[in-house]
Amino acid sequence: MTLVASIPRTTEPSVIVIGGGIGGLAAAAAIANAGVSVIVLEAHVYPGGCAATFRHRGRWYDAGATLLAGFAPGGPMQLLGRAAGIRHWPVRPTELALTVYLEDGTVVARVARDARWDFYRSAFPTSLPFWHWQEATAALLWDFALRLPEIQPRSWASLRETLSVTGEWLLRSRPSPQLLLDLLRPVARRLPEDPRFRRFVDAQLLIAAQATADEVYALYGAAALDLPNRGVVEPAGGAGAIARTLVDAVRRHSGTVHFRQEVVEIERTQRTWRVRTQRGLELAATHVVADLTPWALARLWNDAPAALRRRTERPPAGWSAFLTVPQSRRQPHAGDHGVAPSGPRAGTARRRELGLRLVEPGLGRDARPGRSARRDPEHPHDLHQLVEAGANR
Ligand SMILES: Cc1cc2nc3c(=O)[nH]c(=O)nc-3n(C[C@H](O)[C@H](O)[C@H](O)COP(=O)(O)OP(=O)(O)OC[C@H]3O[C@@H](n4cnc5c(N)ncnc54)[C@H](O)[C@@H]3O)c2cc1C
Repeated sequence: MTLVASIPRTTEPSVIVIGGGIGGLAAAAAIANAGVSVIVLEAHVYPGGCAATFRHRGRWYDAGATLLAGFAPGGPMQLLGRAAGIRHWPVRPTELALTVYLEDGTVVARVARDARWDFYRSAFPTSLPFWHWQEATAALLWDFALRLPEIQPRSWASLRETLSVTGEWLLRSRPSPQLLLDLLRPVARRLPEDPRFRRFVDAQLLIAAQATADEVYALYGAAALDLPNRGVVEPAGGAGAIARTLVDAVRRHSGTVHFRQEVVEIERTQRTWRVRTQRGLELAATHVVADLTPWALARLWNDAPAALRRRTERPPAGWSAFLTVPQSRRQPHAGDHGVAPSGPRAGTARRRELGLRLVEPGLGRDARPGRSARRDPEHPHDLHQLVEAGANR
C-alpha cells in the first residue's frame, strides 16, 4: 500500500498487472480501490489461474484450489476485502478442513473445535506437546504476518517500517529463542517417536506444504498445519468465485481486465514499462506487477536482472498437486485433492520409500498418481487430461 500511495494518478494506466490469477487480481483490486488506474492482462479466457473454476462439456471443474483458508476475522482475506473494497466474499464456512486416511483404516477429520484435543489425546497420546507447540507457534507467526511487514524492504523508509513492526512484535509476543531454531530445523525434529503420528502429519503437510516432515522447516510447518484453525471456507460456485469477485472489484473501481491477452514481451524504457501481447496490444505504464513465476517473467523480459535469470530453472524436485473428481459427482470437494512426487523423485520407488499411498476418499480406494484414469470407468478421458495438467507448486 505504501507503493500504491506513491504512484502518480494519470489518465494512462499507471499499473499493468500481468496475469489474472488470485495474486494478480488481488493486487489489481487493491490498486484500483486506492484510485490508481490499472489494467490486468490475462492469457486465459477466464480468471483465477490455479484457483479458477471452468466449464468443460457441461460440467464445472476447479482447476486446482477447492478449499480456502484465511477468512477468519482479522485474517488475510478480510484485510484484502478491506483493501479492495469487497464487503462480502461468496463463501460458506466449513468446519472440516482435512480428512486423513491412515493405512490402519483410521479416518481422522481435522476440525477447529475444542474436541480436537480429545481426539489427539485418544488417537496419539504422545502428541499433545507437539500440538501445543504447533498452535502457539502458528499464532505468533500469524500475529507477525498480519502486521504486514515488508519482507524485502525496497527503501530506507520501508526498512525502518519493517524494523519498527518487528520490534513491536518482539516486545509484545516475546518469542522463545527456540523460534529461531525452528527456522532452521525440520518439523520432524519436533515430532514424538510415533510412526503412525508421523504419517498423520506427513499426509497433512503434503497437502498444505507439498513436502514431508523431514523436508518442511518447523516454522513453516507450524503454519501449514494450522489450516483448520484459520477460517476454512468453501467458495460458493467453486474457487473461481473468488477470482470473479476480484474481477468485479477491479472493474467497479474503474480498472480493466482483459482476457486472451498473453503478454509476450516487456521492456523498460526510461521511466516507462512497455508491454506487448501476442494479439498485438501494446501498452505503457509506470509500474508492472507480474503474477508469474520468476522463470516465466525472465522469458518475457530481455533485460531481466541477473538475479532473476539465475532463478529461471524450475526446482529440480518437488511435489505436484492434482485434483480428481469422480464422474458420478458434479462438484469437486476437498477430498479430491492429491499430491505426487514430480521431477527426479517421481515414480514408485520414491513413494515406496515414503510409504505413501494416496487415497481418493470419493471412491474409497487407492488413487495412485500416474495410474491412467482412462482405465477407470468412473473417470472420463478428458478429465484424465485435466488431472494431469495439475501444476507444480
Ligand atoms: C491442484 C492444485 C490444488 C490446489 N489446492 C489449493 C487449495 O485447496 N487451497 C489453496 O488455498 N490453494 C490451493 N492451491 C494453490 C493455489 O491454487 C495457488 O497457490 C494460487 O492459485 C496461485 O495463484 P497465483 O495468482 O499466484 O498464480 P496463478 O494461479 O498461476 O496465476 C497466474 C496467472 O497468470 C496467467 N499468465 C501466465 N503467463 C501469462 C502471460 N504471459 N500473460 C498473461 N497472463 C499470463 C495465467 O493464465 C494465470 O491465470 C492448489 C494448486 C493446485 C495446482
